[in-house]
Amino acid sequence: MKSLIILGSTGSIGTQALEVAKRDGYKVTALAAGSNIELLEKQAREFGVLAVAVFDEKAAEQLKHNLADTEIKVLGGVEGVCKIAEYDGDIVLNAIVGIAGLRPTLTAINAGKDIALANKETLVTGGELVNKAAREKGVKILPVDSEHSAIFQSLQGAPEGSLRKILLTASGGPFYSKTRADLENVTVKEALNHPNWSMGAKITIDSATLMNKGLEVIEAVHLFGISADNIEVLVHRQSILHSAVELGDGAVIAQLGTPDMRLPIQYALTYPNRSDYAFERLSLTDIGTLTFEKPDTDTFRCLSLCIDAINEGGLAPTAVNGANEEAVKLFLDGKIKFLQIADLVEKALRNVKNKKDFDLDDILETDKQAREFVRKSLDI
Ligand code: NDP
Repeated sequence: MKSLIILGSTGSIGTQALEVAKRDGYKVTALAAGSNIELLEKQAREFGVLAVAVFDEKAAEQLKHNLADTEIKVLGGVEGVCKIAEYDGDIVLNAIVGIAGLRPTLTAINAGKDIALANKETLVTGGELVNKAAREKGVKILPVDSEHSAIFQSLQGAPEGSLRKILLTASGGPFYSKTRADLENVTVKEALNHPNWSMGAKITIDSATLMNKGLEVIEAVHLFGISADNIEVLVHRQSILHSAVELGDGAVIAQLGTPDMRLPIQYALTYPNRSDYAFERLSLTDIGTLTFEKPDTDTFRCLSLCIDAINEGGLAPTAVNGANEEAVKLFLDGKIKFLQIADLVEKALRNVKNKKDFDLDDILETDKQAREFVRKSLDI
């Protein structure tokens, strides 16, 4: 049985990953989170881990105190989270939200660990570095994102070089079929009300703007070595067909399932094997109809902005991602309107300096500049 390290264990994916780990009897050796020490302490005690890290240094100090009756090592800050990423364990499941997941991913790869990757911002910002490091270290990057897991599953057994096109499905989010005028005054509560998936706040807002689908196009480019021109986004309201591939001979192969992240999490952990799935199974007759439509990229501009960014290359995806992370935070704090998210992402894409050859420091600097750009353009 493999042993696991879970980064972002207190979040939506992290808690579901622990559920899968518990049911399937994985040994969990180390955990990391941002600041939720109450839940992290509970998880650490329940799974008997060797070490935990908390990004927030003050919270880490408090947790050290709270766990003083145990042997569990408590680390703090970004360095602490990276130490957890290279701890004893066969596979690192990275479910941190945002670019904060990039350094821990690279640390885990450099330590020779396979990665089950939910943190899409890792590939959006650092796809080139991650792929290079993974190749050099001979480690696997196993997608957890449901669409990319579906693509990965659909490609099992496909001859090398046979992938022609990816059909990437999108639920359309809570604002499907709305016009720009309808979206003018939508509230945070409305934007957080996703029709099919229960997820963390940032990805839920990204789903409402279709930024999430744009980030996923970039993620797919890096995972499957295909150009964005060969990725077709389809709005599929039922979230049952999680994505498909078209092969050279015209065959279209898809993976279907209930909208439940425990299935792709489980597959990333058992790959190349499969274990029994203990949760609700798909009944196609209950669903009845599956529909597919083109996305409305005039209203939901974030999708096209991500495609522009990956086509431009270099640090453009990092600028778009950083601007979006900052704008989403401001929207959730009630400081900007929903439609301003796309405006700010576009301005950052056009204004933040790009370069084609870059390293990790350049990525982190561009992320900082994109965030500053957003705040400056709002006078914050
Ligand atoms: P959540 O917001 O629910 O959880 C985020 C996790 O990251 C929490 O454990 C949080 O800790 C932790 N975290 C935040 N900042 C840091 C940091 N600087 N260092 C260490 N840990 C940190 O997010 P989700 O679980 O929804 O999403 C996680 C990732 O998975 C995202 O990249 C998302 O796009 C991707 N994903 C999510 C899906 C879903 O269904 N939720 C589906 C597909 C992909 P704390 O609780 O202490 O703040």
